[in-house]
Amino acid sequence: MPKKTIEHVEVASSTVLMRVDFNVPLDDAGQITDDLRIRMALPSIKSVIDRGGRLILISHLGRPEGKGVEPSLSLKPIADRLGQLLDGAKVRFVPDDCVGSQATEAVAALSDGQVLVLENLRFDAGEKKGDKEFAAKLAALAHIYCNDAFGTAHRNDASMVAVPQAMSGKPRVAGLLMDKELSFLSETLRSPKKPFVAVLGGAKVSDKLGVLHNLMGKVDTILMGGAMSYTLLKALGFDMGSSMVQLGMLKQAQQIIDEAAASPTDLILPNDHVCGKQISRMTPMKICKDSIESGWMGLDIGPETVSQFVEEIRKAKTILWNGPMGVFETKPFDVGTKQIAEAIAQATDSGAVSIIGGGETAAAVDEFGLAERFSHISTGGGASLQMLEGKEFASVNLLEKA
Ligand code: ADP
Ligand code: MG
Repeated sequence: MPKKTIEHVEVASSTVLMRVDFNVPLDDAGQITDDLRIRMALPSIKSVIDRGGRLILISHLGRPEGKGVEPSLSLKPIADRLGQLLDGAKVRFVPDDCVGSQATEAVAALSDGQVLVLENLRFDAGEKKGDKEFAAKLAALAHIYCNDAFGTAHRNDASMVAVPQAMSGKPRVAGLLMDKELSFLSETLRSPKKPFVAVLGGAKVSDKLGVLHNLMGKVDTILMGGAMSYTLLKALGFDMGSSMVQLGMLKQAQQIIDEAAASPTDLILPNDHVCGKQISRMTPMKICKDSIESGWMGLDIGPETVSQFVEEIRKAKTILWNGPMGVFETKPFDVGTKQIAEAIAQATDSGAVSIIGGGETAAAVDEFGLAERFSHISTGGGASLQMLEGKEFASVNLLEKA
């Protein structure tokens, strides 16, 4: 069900409590190394302040102990960065407990179009515990609740669940980033245009079992590459040399193969592999057909597999991709991943809907300069994976339907 968004509510002169995901990477000196997560929240932030709303932003950052302020995990540098991104708009910061008296006073002093960033939610142990008293204090600060923290959507922290519960009766809406993520990851997957092809890869089949089970029967074809496919090939009896195989997962791998055989979903595994002796640019290389000799490891899908996968991708109207096809971080083992990325980009140009999930997969397409060419690249690692597993989130269920 689509959610009501922040754009659907009147915000002029009202106070909006917006949960965002400002959990950005910091270097040792406490400098922000990538502000993407701040920039992703800008549409929702602007939607409130441009219409004369008073905005309170709340987020966690890192993993503080929950025993009060830890200066290295303060949201102050993030508030400063936000001030730069909003071209001098008034962004204030409260260097105190996010539910302390300073915070309450600063909220009372907010005027229309201003933004207040509260300190790291996880400095208070109540956040991780989902504590109701802590939540009630946050809830009392505002008239409207907005959740734009998709990256945290799978967690039941106080700001995600107990706060909107405490604000029952008041508007509780999705932010624009949350709305976009939900519409691609949940709506598109619920009613996809067919053929629907899933491309799955990455390191460990154990990370992706839930996704595989959920997609079985829903997608027409699963194209599987990456090291995860080697565990399935091993279960089928192929020798995989010194490739990354999860020997403890052979039973589960066999179950996936059986499930695919019993369902309308076709599961296609690689039939050739680009092999090396180590993960290194300097390693000797060769193409192995079907099985891999001892002393060699599979590091990418082979050319025949690429052709077969590209052909399936060309026919698709919906494409979901999670997990690289090989060790794309080390050239030349990026070739398979790159060719698959290009095929999906071309299919998107021809009208297919393409959705990319997974941190490394997103990093790979970014590196190839193709990031603009997909319908949607999900920003939430754990949250997108769990959504692809078909899980429901309490935080999302609490938001009003459109
Ligand atoms: P994502 O973050 O996109 O969900 P994963 O975390 O599942 O992807 O897997 C990404 C990692 O899988 C990459 O670091 C890549 O090097 C590794 N990988 C892919 N294929 C292989 C392979 N054949 N051997 C070893 N590692 C591989
Ligand atoms: Mg990963």
